Amino acid sequence: MAIRTIRTDEDPILRKTSRVVEVINDRILTLLDDMAETMHEAEGVGLAAPQVGVLKRIIVLDVGEGLIEMINPEILEIAGEQCGPEGCLSVPEQSGTVIRPQRVKVKALNRHHEAFELEAEDLLARAICHEIDHLNGILFTDLMLSEEEAEAYEKASAEEGSEERSD
Ligand code: ZN
Repeated sequence: MAIRTIRTDEDPILRKTSRVVEVINDRILTLLDDMAETMHEAEGVGLAAPQVGVLKRIIVLDVGEGLIEMINPEILEIAGEQCGPEGCLSVPEQSGTVIRPQRVKVKALNRHHEAFELEAEDLLARAICHEIDHLNGILFTDLMLSEEEAEAYEKASAEEGSEERSD
């Protein structure tokens, strides 16, 4: 295993669309191992292959519940909404508020070329959406709310919450 260099900021590779993985060979397995090691070393909760300079549809995640590897991940369903803080190993100087689905159902291949489905919520759902965005050249800063928008959202959801709290 090896730590790979995380591409940051204006690196054009972060804006490209990653390609579907057709064959899971030794190079892909090494990439998966290196991505997990790189993510853990950087104390991130997720990492996408383009962040280490490889334009392939591969992400790794670990929100504290163990490592998840996904090859060719695809979101099947989304539900609900969450609004919260987000950052990115590739945009180290910034953080901001992003609205994401509260729950996602996603399918992917594992390293043994087996298809699996995963239902995730809260932080894991957020991380999955963030990492899949990387595969499409999208950064969280593209989706980030302005301070005014974030305040307005918080206010609106607080009001909504107080109305719904009767059940
Ligand atoms: Zn990121």
